[in-house]
Amino acid sequence: MERIVIIGAGQAGAQAVASLRAEGFDGSLVVVGDEPFAPYQRPPLSKAYLSGSMERERLFLKPESFYREAQCELLLGVSAIGIDRVARCVKLDDRSTLPYDKLLLATGSRVRRCAIRGCELPGIFYLRGMADVDAMRAHFAQGARLAVVGGGYIGLEVAAVARKLGLEVTVFEALGRVMARAVSAPLSKFYEQAHRQWSVRFHLNTAVEAFEGDGRLQAIRAGGQRFEADLALVGIGIVPNVELAQEAGLVCDDGIVVDQHCGCTSAPDIFAAGDCTQHIGRDGKSIRLECVQNAIDQAKHAALAMVGKPKPYREVPWFWSDQYDLKLQIAGLARPGDALVVRGNPEARKFAVFHLRNGAVAAVEAVNAAPEYMIGRKLIADGTQVTPERLADTAILMKNIV
Ligand SMILES: Cc1cc2nc3c(=O)[nH]c(=O)nc-3n(C[C@H](O)[C@H](O)[C@H](O)COP(=O)(O)OP(=O)(O)OC[C@H]3O[C@@H](n4cnc5c(N)ncnc54)[C@H](O)[C@@H]3O)c2cc1C
Repeated sequence: MERIVIIGAGQAGAQAVASLRAEGFDGSLVVVGDEPFAPYQRPPLSKAYLSGSMERERLFLKPESFYREAQCELLLGVSAIGIDRVARCVKLDDRSTLPYDKLLLATGSRVRRCAIRGCELPGIFYLRGMADVDAMRAHFAQGARLAVVGGGYIGLEVAAVARKLGLEVTVFEALGRVMARAVSAPLSKFYEQAHRQWSVRFHLNTAVEAFEGDGRLQAIRAGGQRFEADLALVGIGIVPNVELAQEAGLVCDDGIVVDQHCGCTSAPDIFAAGDCTQHIGRDGKSIRLECVQNAIDQAKHAALAMVGKPKPYREVPWFWSDQYDLKLQIAGLARPGDALVVRGNPEARKFAVFHLRNGAVAAVEAVNAAPEYMIGRKLIADGTQVTPERLADTAILMKNIV
């Protein structure tokens, strides 16, 4: 019987199980995951789960019965440490080997760690998995001083939860604006302002130089100054887990390189999906995405490729972030040089920024603006031509824009 092994029990891994069975794969299916948990959602980790408003049980992507019914074996708390492409087997850290006919690498990514003085002090936290939140939340006491290192979406989501729980929050960001990698300048300004209204302090253009403390974090040194802190959350990006692929000789370039069908790597019978991949985006440029949509859609495409029904990957990327009462929804890929059109009023906390390229919408960033996001996403998918004037005119309903 043919056997598919999936390395990585995360968002892409769980989706691949569902899609492989839905596509009629009736061979043996094994998922290897190094965390001791069945696949779970990560987005709530910096939102509802951190705030305590979401139970751990609700994080799991599928009930246990799903894996039983799918006849999928979950090997949890076990790491894949090598791939033998000649013998077609995966080496596990419990010294066993797992033969495969086809292999899916869904290894995701890990946090980028900072390597400055004092970085090993207790009281410094990162956020990637459930265990990280459980460790950090124990220190979320009212009045505690939290230093957020990195003003990206994870840092800001944690800042929002922390302020609501009564912590004092200071954000240190090396660049000149928050979420600079993820959103346009007007959005950065809006979000900085929203956090300032919640008394979050910002130090932009300020790289953290050292963590200080006697046995435990007590202060942060940044921009030549000393800031007292009881705990720190470092959110300075992620690194794709490509080492297994690299050591097996697969082509990697800031991610495991997959083809236009998304799934096929440079090795026949080895496929990849999710945060760990580098693929060709809709605009023909190579890109690595870090979002749930990409993990799900790439896993679906990888499953199709694995059962011999490859389909070109043309999905519109989408993403969201929740901070205070602000729901940010983003679709498409923005590029420098796009013309920006603001629709609605940021002061009313309900607006959208459209990115226009060659007369069509290339991306939309919507704040508490579901129609702008939904229709914007469709406009991107269809490549519809639209004028900036019509987009900006709130007297025209989004559904009538075209
Ligand atoms: C705090 C947080 C908030 C987020 N918020 C959002 C959001 O609001 N919206 C959004 O779209 N995205 C969000 N994301 C990103 C999203 O969760 C990821 O893009 C998604 O989880 C990627 O899925 P994946 O399957 O590729 O990787 P993962 O879900 O990371 O799964 C990979 C799994 O593989 C395991 N693994 C790695 N190497 C091995 C090995 N050698 N052997 C065995 N197992 C291995 C990993 O430990 C992990 O369990 C967030 C992420 C985090 C951490």
